Amino acid sequence: MQCELCGRECNCRPAIVDGVKMMVCPGCMKHGKAVVISSQVEPSRKPILERIKRPKQKDVYKDMDKELVSNWNEIIKSARQKKGLTREQLGFKIGERTVTISKIENGDLRPSDNVAKKLEKELGISLFEEVSGAPSYMTGSSSGGSLTLGDFIKKE
Ligand SMILES: [Zn+2]
Repeated sequence: MQCELCGRECNCRPAIVDGVKMMVCPGCMKHGKAVVISSQVEPSRKPILERIKRPKQKDVYKDMDKELVSNWNEIIKSARQKKGLTREQLGFKIGERTVTISKIENGDLRPSDNVAKKLEKELGISLFEEVSGAPSYMTGSSSGGSLTLGDFIKKE
């Protein structure tokens, strides 16, 4: 390969000379700027991520085939009491204010879809029922007890 600047036969390398990419010999390299070889990673500019403003999520009940049970406030209250939690503690666990829990338990405030799901998870309850008409007990989870009768008999 010939150097494009001096014409000398050489082990030419690509370089930018006066803004033009050329194959030049090491001797001529100093006239130009060496082209960045692929192994050298150029610090790439990261595009500034545009913050996408999300619209506040509205209740999505209408998009679901499940509906909040009619006595949700009673279910929440009794479940919370069974767990031995105060309204403050429950509110803290699910990231809601105590007054919100109180309102929900009094039936003054219908829990949002998001809050209802958190309550379900935290209290181990089911607040939604199928609109299709399937009884709620059909969908209930069947978690087995930890102790069986056999455990007691073996002790004998
Ligand atoms: Zn040269």
